Amino acid sequence: MAIKIDKKIVGYNVGAKDNAVKPAEQGDVADVPQKAEIIRMHEKLERPEGMECLEGATYKIRTPLDDHALYVTINDIILNPGTEHEQRRPFEIFINSKNMDHFQWIVALTRVMSAVFRKGGDVTFLSEELQAVFDPKGGYFKPGGRFVPSIVADIGAVVEHHLRRIGLLEPDELSEQQMLMLEQKRAEVEAREKAASEKKTTDDADSVEASFPPSATLCGKCNTKAMVLLDGCQTCLSCGYSKCG
Ligand SMILES: [Zn+2]
Repeated sequence: MAIKIDKKIVGYNVGAKDNAVKPAEQGDVADVPQKAEIIRMHEKLERPEGMECLEGATYKIRTPLDDHALYVTINDIILNPGTEHEQRRPFEIFINSKNMDHFQWIVALTRVMSAVFRKGGDVTFLSEELQAVFDPKGGYFKPGGRFVPSIVADIGAVVEHHLRRIGLLEPDELSEQQMLMLEQKRAEVEAREKAASEKKTTDDADSVEASFPPSATLCGKCNTKAMVLLDGCQTCLSCGYSKCG
């Protein structure tokens, strides 16, 4: 349908709400009034009135590259509270660091990320994209043996963790049975290695609690130094990945 505009155009506004409802409108007109009331994420969504505080969480990231920790705060907004469409979504992200070397890229990254959060839609790709960033100077290992390719990837992992916590991503947990099996295999390998190096002193027994046998190699799936040879097959003791399928 064409509309003739006979006045000067002085501004425009893209109706986010209209866009969101339209596809459903064509199919079933009956439940349109209901659907139109659902609040979805869009750029103009403002902090709830009278609620100057949003719920959120702060995560601490320690890296071996820096004496100062990074503090990542993600605040959430709850849409349609108390209804069946209630949804918790990330609204803004802040990162604090005493290290001024990081200042400008952190400001840029957090501003862009907050803008993406507010745009709505699927924001889970952010954590994937960040975790794929490699530092040309090399990454580092976290306690527990997980390899992180850059500080940006470390931030991505925090975002992923947060999205799982608020239910935007499926919890990434192994089943009880899988856990039990991996625990058994781990004990098996540890016993074998202990027997092989009986004369070795036990000084290094106080390494990080979640670490894996010293002979373990890097798993390509979860980036943890937890791959061991079990029954002729490379198996990851952290995520359960096996080269033999
Ligand atoms: Zn793994």
